Amino acid sequence: MSSNDFDVVVVGCGIAGLSAAITAQQGGARVAILERAPKDERGGNTRYTESFWRMKSEDAVSDDFEDRFAANAGGWPDPGIVQETVRDRENQPAVLRALGIVDPELIATIAEEAPKALKWLTEFGVKFDFLPLYFLSQSTTRMGPIGGGLALVEALGTYIDERSTDIEVFYETGARDLIFDDQGTIVGVRAVGRGNKPIEFRGRNVVLASGGYQGNQEMLSHYVGPQAQFVRPVSRGGHYNRGEGVRMALSAGAAPCGDYGSFHAQPVDPRSTDIEPVVLNYSYGILVNDAGKRFTDEAPGMVDATYEEVSRLIMAERQGIAYAVFDAGLDDVENWPVTVRSRVPPLEAESLIGLARAMAVDERDFLATVEAYNQACPTSGAFDPFQPDGLATAGLEPRKSHWARPIFRPPFRAWPMICSNCFTFGGVKIDERARVINSEGDAIPGLYAAGEVAGLYYRTYTGATSVMRGAVTGRLAGTDAVLRRNATD
Ligand SMILES: Cc1cc2nc3c(=O)[nH]c(=O)nc-3n(C[C@H](O)[C@H](O)[C@H](O)COP(=O)(O)OP(=O)(O)OC[C@H]3O[C@@H](n4cnc5c(N)ncnc54)[C@H](O)[C@@H]3O)c2cc1C
Repeated sequence: MSSNDFDVVVVGCGIAGLSAAITAQQGGARVAILERAPKDERGGNTRYTESFWRMKSEDAVSDDFEDRFAANAGGWPDPGIVQETVRDRENQPAVLRALGIVDPELIATIAEEAPKALKWLTEFGVKFDFLPLYFLSQSTTRMGPIGGGLALVEALGTYIDERSTDIEVFYETGARDLIFDDQGTIVGVRAVGRGNKPIEFRGRNVVLASGGYQGNQEMLSHYVGPQAQFVRPVSRGGHYNRGEGVRMALSAGAAPCGDYGSFHAQPVDPRSTDIEPVVLNYSYGILVNDAGKRFTDEAPGMVDATYEEVSRLIMAERQGIAYAVFDAGLDDVENWPVTVRSRVPPLEAESLIGLARAMAVDERDFLATVEAYNQACPTSGAFDPFQPDGLATAGLEPRKSHWARPIFRPPFRAWPMICSNCFTFGGVKIDERARVINSEGDAIPGLYAAGEVAGLYYRTYTGATSVMRGAVTGRLAGTDAVLRRNATD
């Protein structure tokens, strides 16, 4: 074995790559990790996430887990084909095996494996708990590691640092292409090191765990459309994810899976340099675009279940920007500051005209918008900021379904908001062993996808399941790669 020959080559060093690499090493494999970032920035999106897991306890996922995935399946898949998911995998037709859908068997595997993955992570010293987050109330149960994703990267990162002969990490090295022999068997990865230096890594098992394409404007314009120019990754880690993993797998014949035209959208303050500078208080006020006009129902339901759709609507507005506007009544909402992660103060004025000027929106149109909204607010009913209270506007288009109270008491405040990209949904189809499935419905021997590269979501993200997906699919890939190595040794 030459110094660049490995049993398993893992691309990416986030939760998916780390889980795959360590699982494979624990099974006796010699592993290489290729990581685009320098060591002190390793970990991609995982490094910056709070890493909530949709769990009701350390032993079980949330009660709504599989139902939410089913509800968020997106689109109108052909029921004649989807109904065959009840068959065992080997008896499913190829047309279904290669179909890009929310695969119930994979979801069931993630639900079953998530508690095991969580326990495995605790062996590295990570502790999970029910931690506070930026929603005042939630529609599901969530747990997270104390210290967030950074704690995961540090705990697993320390483990690999201490085993550098078994797990060699090549930082500042970007994977570009898969290498196949003339029989079509995967034999490694071509990459580029610093100074555009080409390097080849040999290995008959490759785990693509390099995240999505949120850091690739060309792919975003291609898949999401021209408004993607107004969107940026929600934090620094996403800039490293430029879609090579997805592209390499597709070039190898993988079946696409996950919603290519969509992504996990979050509303953030564009002025802020904070990590994940979300602005999630908007459902207590109104949203206006840069013309000073409302364009959506600000409160279709609980914020944690609806902010994604609202964010995408902001992206669709001219210039991709909106303003969340409030009067002094915002302070009636106890603890509202936890819902705003941007530390940049809001625009503030003693009059609505002053606020319009601060936002640089048309003053007359803005005043007319507020006036029409105020007129349509209910005059009775109890305001309850912690649950949908039914205080809806009447006769206003678009209506506001909850928390509708007139805006008239100074001081007036506004936060600018854009749509940010947490991670993209487009990826490739995998099975319950994290093997990449080709367009013929068969596994591509030796090729695995984990984390964001494995497409799972359509249109609406089932919240607090992406780190879990990374840990579970990474471990599945590492386990299967070891079995394959042992079988072919
Ligand atoms: C601020 C924030 C908050 C979030 N909150 C949550 C949450 O609460 N719960 C949840 O479940 N999810 C959350 N997410 C999403 C979740 O963190 C990610 O989807 C998940 O961590 C992705 O893990 P991954 O291993 O697939 O990718 P990443 O962690 O992004 O790792 C990919 C790695 O691959 C490397 N890489 C990319 N391309 C190449 C290449 N060509 N060659 C070599 N290396 C490459 C990158 O540098 C990176 O280190 C959040 C994300 C962010 C940013």
